[in-house]
Amino acid sequence: MSALDIFKEGARQFTICNACRYCEGFCPVWPVMERRTQFGKNDLYYMANICHDCKACYYACPYTEPNEQKVNIPEILSRLRLASYKEYATPRFLSGYFGRHKEFFAFTAIASVFAITIFALLIGDPTRLFTPHPEAGSFYDIFPYFVIVTAGVIIGVYVISNYLYNIVRFYKAIKVNGAKFSVRAALVAASDVFWHNGFKGGWLIKDKKAGCYHEETTPSYTFLMLHALIFYGFIAALISTIIAAIYQDVFAILPPYPVLSLPVFFGIVGGICMTIGTLAFFVLQSKPDIRPIFKNMSTLDHAFLFTLALVSITGFLTLIFRSSALLGMMFTFHLGFVLLLFVTAPYGKFVHFTYRYTTLVVTRIEERKGSVRQELNLDSDD
Ligand code: SF4
Ligand code: SF4
Repeated sequence: MSALDIFKEGARQFTICNACRYCEGFCPVWPVMERRTQFGKNDLYYMANICHDCKACYYACPYTEPNEQKVNIPEILSRLRLASYKEYATPRFLSGYFGRHKEFFAFTAIASVFAITIFALLIGDPTRLFTPHPEAGSFYDIFPYFVIVTAGVIIGVYVISNYLYNIVRFYKAIKVNGAKFSVRAALVAASDVFWHNGFKGGWLIKDKKAGCYHEETTPSYTFLMLHALIFYGFIAALISTIIAAIYQDVFAILPPYPVLSLPVFFGIVGGICMTIGTLAFFVLQSKPDIRPIFKNMSTLDHAFLFTLALVSITGFLTLIFRSSALLGMMFTFHLGFVLLLFVTAPYGKFVHFTYRYTTLVVTRIEERKGSVRQELNLDSDD
């Protein structure tokens, strides 16, 4: 389906939905739809990025195939989501990576690990990769501290500035004319993300929080729990890295740290959560689905899950083998997959949280604007 066809098809399906409105209350997409009479590109991008593919609307809909209307909202929104990722990718020439993970993912993964391994071999005595390092600061025998910090800062600044640039552009594109940015809306949206409110089902129908639909027609919290494992696991891993940096740079305590220390505790908790979450998600998403799905989005999901799983598993292996001769290779592989995760972060599924968060902020602004209008009775003559 060409880009033009996607927009036409999205507008066609939402015009049917706007007449039907059976799904109102399922998720934040529907109130957004109801506040519109026409569906231009930015409206469709907005709704696409607020959808988290719970499939409730597909299973509820009487107009899915074989009905001649062929409504499949999760499928068309997946196409639109991918189109928005491509359109907002920076720099533009790298947007081609989106949707082509099937062809390029294995190559990118191997290239990252290969590049890091060659680099490790070239910057010091190669035998250090195959001998034990029992002393404090052993990780820095493999990669010097300034190399790790410099690479981390360069990649971190690149990814964060890339995300911020896209968030601002996307926000400007989807916000309703005249709607002012609100710190309160940004905080409520952050709370929505943190507590996974969109995954609970029944955005408006408070007593019908039944969860998401996967592979069957009964809703459950499986999707929410797996996403939460990955999300909170990632946060725990970040906390581990921050505490380790404080230990080292403030208190001059060099790694490796004991198993019963804060950095290792958070690292283990984060690693376990991410490993279980990613592998279970992978299994869940690999099961056959009775509905037509957009395969390119599944490939994007799988590449991201696979990368996170590799980062977690190699992190564990580095911890397990840190006193042995395998430390050098395990740490090198781990950094190779961390490099893969962050270098591809603006061009893979990782970006979804930036657009999802932006749409939630705009939704909360729109909702507030609506409630203020009602309080002031501005709509009374409608
Ligand atoms: S998805 Fe189907 S049931 Fe839901 S609002 Fe659209 S047309 Fe109606
Ligand atoms: S979040 Fe679920 S109910 Fe809402 S549009 Fe997406 S698939 Fe449909």
